Amino acid sequence: MPAAAQDRGAAASARAERTLEAMTPEEKTVLTVGIMPIKLTPTSPEPPAEAVPGAGYITGIPRLGVPALLETDASLGVSYVFGLRKDGATALPSGLAQAATWNPELTEQGGWMIGAEARAKGFNVLLAGGVNLMRDPRNGRNFEYFGEDPLLAGTLAGHAIRGVQSNHIIATIKHFALNGQETARKEVDSVISPANAHESDLLAFKIGIEIGNPGAVMCAYNKVNGHSACDNDWLLNKVLKQAWGYKGFVMSDWGAVPSLGTALNGLDQQSGSELDKDVFFAAKLGAAAKADPAYARRLDDMNRRILWAVYDNGLVENPVKPGGAIDFKAHGDVAEAVARQGIVLLRNARGVLPLAASAKRIAVIGGYANSGVLSGAGSSQVQGEGGAAVNVPQGGEDDFSPFLFEAYHRSVPIKAIRAAAPQAQVNYRSGRYISEAVTQAKAADIAIVFATQWSSEGFDQPDLSLPNGQDALIAAVAAANPNTIVVLETGGPVLMPWLDKTAAVLEAWYPGARGAEAIAAVLFGQANPSGKLPITFPTGIDQLPRATIEGFDTVEPDFAGAPDVHGQRLVADYNIEGANLGYRWNAGKGQKALFPFGYGLSYTRFAADALKTDGAKATARVTNTGKRAGATVAQLYLVSRAGKPVQRLVGFQRVELAAGQSKAVAMTIDPRLLADWREGSWVLAPGDYGFALGEDAEHLGPVTTARLKGRTWKD
Ligand code: BGC
Repeated sequence: MPAAAQDRGAAASARAERTLEAMTPEEKTVLTVGIMPIKLTPTSPEPPAEAVPGAGYITGIPRLGVPALLETDASLGVSYVFGLRKDGATALPSGLAQAATWNPELTEQGGWMIGAEARAKGFNVLLAGGVNLMRDPRNGRNFEYFGEDPLLAGTLAGHAIRGVQSNHIIATIKHFALNGQETARKEVDSVISPANAHESDLLAFKIGIEIGNPGAVMCAYNKVNGHSACDNDWLLNKVLKQAWGYKGFVMSDWGAVPSLGTALNGLDQQSGSELDKDVFFAAKLGAAAKADPAYARRLDDMNRRILWAVYDNGLVENPVKPGGAIDFKAHGDVAEAVARQGIVLLRNARGVLPLAASAKRIAVIGGYANSGVLSGAGSSQVQGEGGAAVNVPQGGEDDFSPFLFEAYHRSVPIKAIRAAAPQAQVNYRSGRYISEAVTQAKAADIAIVFATQWSSEGFDQPDLSLPNGQDALIAAVAAANPNTIVVLETGGPVLMPWLDKTAAVLEAWYPGARGAEAIAAVLFGQANPSGKLPITFPTGIDQLPRATIEGFDTVEPDFAGAPDVHGQRLVADYNIEGANLGYRWNAGKGQKALFPFGYGLSYTRFAADALKTDGAKATARVTNTGKRAGATVAQLYLVSRAGKPVQRLVGFQRVELAAGQSKAVAMTIDPRLLADWREGSWVLAPGDYGFALGEDAEHLGPVTTARLKGRTWKD
């Protein structure tokens, strides 16, 4: 942490101590409990006047100058809370799209942008960034997170948080930890050894916390090794607070607090308390503190931590007020920059892309491409100015059903394509009828199919297929027109049984407020694609560590996450893959992905060479050997230790290069990525460590070896 931040942190601690000393016993339980400041149902109580409709509200202590905490979701933009605050916000592309940029500075700008909008709307706590690693490509929330690799995900989350907090508001790293599936999310037990956890998910959190210094951590819904993540002495006390020395506070996820005892196990704030079976952290906590010194000590510590986050982020000096101006144009530019850099070109047979502006007839098919671009659903759902372009209700009768929509942002692919190819006749068909799509495709020079896979918080996908018969649609269109281009708007990886029949495939993820403009820029070459996959695209379920998501086939889908599990004990056994997720799992099994982690094509070519490393620092040269300016990502992998194969991403750097240009890149290697976690320490075994530059995780250059001395250290 920079010295200035350390000084600020120390000053915040001293100030928190003074405020704590001035608190009455009644005041000590004010900051420890929150409500949802919305009228979810006509009978819900009226929220306090100063609360902005959002995810959470915690009363302040005006006598002591402590502001109320006004909380909103989050990672992809200021969320629209069930449509109750119809004010519009700028949607960034999904977390996976952000991660596909491999660009920490741009991710930081995205965080700054969201934080600026949150502040303008009167919020001083943002419930972002999510850094759960993709342990299963069927997890319905993958789109909110930064992929499968601890270094990439942790670095980007850290920068997103830093961007958010540059607005003098608090950011929240979440969901701590091992929140790997949505099915029965409050029931499932993520089982994992400490070593496996420290080398994967916990490392992502640690890196994110080191870089971003978030004021808050949100504990997860799931259990970890038998104990709720919000009631987990190991995770919250032993790891986060004691071993890592984290100074901020732990807030619960909404409806994740089982008991008062969570206070002793490290929880500092009960969020959205009306969702729990009791309001534990108000009068009951006060009474416990009177009767029991252990609770009294904890109550002081809870206040210290919350106050520290408030002071360290300058919430008092920079009060928030709703009604601030938002520069939607400038913020849209940030969203578009992320989308342009995050789109991944997966296939480009015969160099069909970029499209010539001379195409005469273009058939655009499917995906509501006449209206907008898809977004993911749940608490992260953002809606732009004017609301969604299309909102497809999901039906159902439970409490949350009225709020779940398949929503499309107002960024219109056919408009953007028409603007990029003004001479072309651009037709659109919904794709509902294959025969109609085929007729259009046959008559066109180029067919562009927009294929969508909606996903949502609260639910997982059963498999990796594109839903609603889209595979058959694409196959038929590709058979009718050899110049078929598929634009994927998906929450995560999908299978592509039609891949070889198509000319080109773009993975556009959920591309955000200006997604269509970014897609058109890539299709027509105003942007040279530079996105690289932050996740592995498997060839099928049989490549995954688990055949099914735990409980998927036996419990009813339930947004709230606590369905009737019929007495089953649901265990997500993460020791199967351990720390080796995604590409690391494939490397260990000798499996080849459909598209590997780190993969992404460009309209130019790159070479990376001259790798030199002593195991602590590495340098290399990256050259654009083609004829167009473009950007790529230098990726450095550990490939062997003491003669044994092992694979870990240990460094990366995005590089922009003019045609023919070379640049030197320098990377620092975090020793934790070379080491193993053993009994509370990192252990670096002495020996030879092999490193290679990779075009992606499966295409590696020559190995450079560094001899390292053994050492052991604490986190
Ligand atoms: C989600 C959190 C979110 C919270 C508040 C929960 O359902 O898991 O990510 O921040 O709601 O909206």
